[in-house]
Amino acid sequence: MYYDQDKKTIISTLESNRSKGLTSEEAAKRLEEYGVNEVQQKKERPAWRIFLQTFKDPLVIVLMGAVVLSLFSASYDFFITDNMAHSRTSLYEAIAIGILILGNAALAFWQENSAKKSLAALQQLAEHQTMTLRDNDWQKVPGKKLVPGDILSVKMGDFIDADVRWLKVAELQVSETHLTGEADAISKQTDELAADSALAERSNMGYAGSTVVNGNGIGIVVATGQNTELGKIAEMLTQVTDQKTPLQQTINRLTKRLLVISACLATFTLVFMLAKEFVLTGQLTIETVASVISTTIILAVASIPDALPVVLSIVLTIGARLLAKNNGLIKSLSSVETLGATTFIASDKTGTLTRNQMAVVRFYANGQNFTVEGNGYEPVGEITTADEEADEVSYHDFMLAAVLNNEASIEENEDGRMTPLGNPTDVALVVLGEKAGFKRSQLLENKKGHHIDLLRVLPFDSTRKMMSVVVKQDGQYKVLTKGAPDVILQRTETIQEDNQRVALKDAKATVEQQILDFANDALRTLAIAERDISLDEAENATMDELEQKLNLIGIAGIIDPPREEVRQSIKELHAASVSVVMITGDHAATARAIALRLGIITDQAAQVIEGKDMEQMSDDDLYKIVPDCRVYARVTPEHKQRIIRQLQRHGEVVGMTGDGVNDASALRAANIGIAMGINGTEVTKDSADLVLLDDKFTTIERSVEAGRTIFSNIRNFIRQELITNVAEVLALLLGILLIHRSIGNVSATTPTLTTLMVMWVNMISDSLPALALGYDEPEADLMEAKPRDTKKSILADGMLRRIIVRGSVMGFTVFIAFIWAASSGMAAEEAQTVAFLTLVFGQLWHVFDARSSTTLFRRNPFTNWRLLTAVSFAALSSLLATLLPFFNELMGTVPLTAPLYLAVILLPSLPTFIISGIKEVWLRLRK
Ligand code: ATP
Repeated sequence: MYYDQDKKTIISTLESNRSKGLTSEEAAKRLEEYGVNEVQQKKERPAWRIFLQTFKDPLVIVLMGAVVLSLFSASYDFFITDNMAHSRTSLYEAIAIGILILGNAALAFWQENSAKKSLAALQQLAEHQTMTLRDNDWQKVPGKKLVPGDILSVKMGDFIDADVRWLKVAELQVSETHLTGEADAISKQTDELAADSALAERSNMGYAGSTVVNGNGIGIVVATGQNTELGKIAEMLTQVTDQKTPLQQTINRLTKRLLVISACLATFTLVFMLAKEFVLTGQLTIETVASVISTTIILAVASIPDALPVVLSIVLTIGARLLAKNNGLIKSLSSVETLGATTFIASDKTGTLTRNQMAVVRFYANGQNFTVEGNGYEPVGEITTADEEADEVSYHDFMLAAVLNNEASIEENEDGRMTPLGNPTDVALVVLGEKAGFKRSQLLENKKGHHIDLLRVLPFDSTRKMMSVVVKQDGQYKVLTKGAPDVILQRTETIQEDNQRVALKDAKATVEQQILDFANDALRTLAIAERDISLDEAENATMDELEQKLNLIGIAGIIDPPREEVRQSIKELHAASVSVVMITGDHAATARAIALRLGIITDQAAQVIEGKDMEQMSDDDLYKIVPDCRVYARVTPEHKQRIIRQLQRHGEVVGMTGDGVNDASALRAANIGIAMGINGTEVTKDSADLVLLDDKFTTIERSVEAGRTIFSNIRNFIRQELITNVAEVLALLLGILLIHRSIGNVSATTPTLTTLMVMWVNMISDSLPALALGYDEPEADLMEAKPRDTKKSILADGMLRRIIVRGSVMGFTVFIAFIWAASSGMAAEEAQTVAFLTLVFGQLWHVFDARSSTTLFRRNPFTNWRLLTAVSFAALSSLLATLLPFFNELMGTVPLTAPLYLAVILLPSLPTFIISGIKEVWLRLRK
């Protein structure tokens, strides 16, 4: 129950300690006892079902049909015609196709499992962490390892990972939509409640799966895993279905289409060959029918790119790992594809484009302008003013408010350097305060001649752009507010000048000019204000009521230097035709100054749209300006969503960063939601598609590049695979259509290639190099090309033409090799072997051309060692397949003479070199 008991009772029932937490031994013991803090969803599909699933694939069904036909043919020959040699060949075929099906299923099964595991391992990096008190020390503990009795602390943007009873809260508001359906955030408190309170009314409890939307709190874990309220309804949670990526869907559609083509081809061949036989001989024997069926099977096998789906999924998984190596963590395989097609990147400024190492370098207080010196977070540096020597009296109130209305601190680490803790803007104020001799801890311990108590805290919220505290200072209650100057000015009544409170209208112009001066200097601006209030107000008024009628005591100008490497990344993205947009909560002039420094805009007068301008605009107005606007300032998360939607209406593929709790829906609306791994809230990380492990903008650029690389590799191997299929089909079809009588020792019904040769080509000499293409380095001009148009088919832009032209040339070459061999008096097997090796080597030469979107001559063939290994392996094993008796028997191959080997290895390179050469000349002429 817990909500009807007081805090002390609960802590002692759970044998915990409010100030020290559990010991790690105790926590380990409880983890054993209560199990991992995980809610079990529906059972996973058992392995055997995943395995069987692969047999539902239409490609596999065709192949299974081929097995049945081969077996039928084998038994017929064995029992009826007594043609033992033919029966054996058919049996081998059946067995080989069977092995192919099983192998394919096993590979698909293994791939699915390993892809799942890889993704799960990657996601583990982005797992929730909870601030937990253990061994008398606050530390980050993975949410899964929480146990009953743990004392945890949450703040805005965190997930609550277990059921807790609150012990201390400060303006804590929590969203419990998943349990109660209530959309509004619920305020929490710590008093005990009546035993019959309904779940939605238990305001002293926090439940697993909720998110903290405001304030902070400390609670004790009362239930974990299946025992949580979430665990009780877990059955209702739907399991995440593994969705196929758009490309996988396209490939599935493509293979289905190829199947139809293959079925038509097979039917055509069947009818054509039977008719031909009948016309030529005037009869149809069972033998002829059997041989016709066997040729039909070869054709069906030849026309299907069986390895394509598996290779695709392997390459996508490789992509996910590649991204992770670059510090970009993706949540699903589709993101790999989308990243490569990104056309717009909308980025936050602070922390992503800038270093988030803030320092106050100038400030305006009491009518005077001050300059602050110093280095990093070291609390030393002179404060000077232009008019006279810095005068502590004139900035006393400003400093006091700056450090009291603040939750950050700086601490000296082991090597004597200061490290910041907390919100960087606040840290900058803490450092400033210490430079001026105002140390927060000393003030609160009442060591500095004041008597100060901190009563309430309303933390910073990027939608409100403000933060406030209520203090009691020397007997007087005060609210201290700080935030974006324009927001504060709207709530201001007076401005402090020369120790006088001047009416807003008399001093506003000066202050606004001051703010603009700071902002034009690329400084972040922050206004600091205060107001005297009564005890009653201090205790009972809402913060919104308190943050009115303020007295403005100063403006801080904070530097946040741009990250140096970002300029280069932006340049590269621009070269890649990816637009970069800055969306910031900061002042318009600051945003413009930083955007200019980073090269996001180059024109001083470029348009900067502010949140308040957007409020006045209809969606259609916004639609018109989004393609050209590069800087948005003073925006809230809702504005972000509007910008995304209008960009998407233009067909743009938008990547959007976000770090605050309110950014979650904008991240979901974007095509690629990007969250910060270090400074981002748990909630944004959860909604993102890409998590930047190092919070750097450069990582986005590298992820886009990786996305493009993977996509272009995928295109390359799809091209290679399909070219081979076209070549095989054509080589076989030409034989069927054009050869009507024996040539030399080769009969008219001898197919150009045997079934097993075709399968060898598909599985060995085609798939392995194709897979290696998946690991290829990016092409040199990859980041100079336009982003891919996601609406276009993967076969668009000349790809289909290239497949048909190259495939046909390769098919013709194989056919001509076969005819040549037959007419020079070779036996059928020898002619087929010549055709087989011509195809294998034609393919292996061509793979170096398939690597390039332009021509073979523009890529160094030695940069992909995997490809070289795969090609060497395929070449050697194919040669062995003609040399070893076992394969001779199985595949119908025969050893060739040395000059013939040389010819079938070298001559098939000609089409590739010639076509690529013609293209190269044409490209140069066109240039
Ligand atoms: P971005 O959205 O690019 O990260 P940002 O960090 O400047 O930009 P916010 O953090 O939403 O955006 O800040 C907006 C404004 O709110 C700042 O310009 C500043 O004036 C004010 N502000 C920022 N941090 C604080 C804080 N800790 N307390 C009070 N006001 C703050």
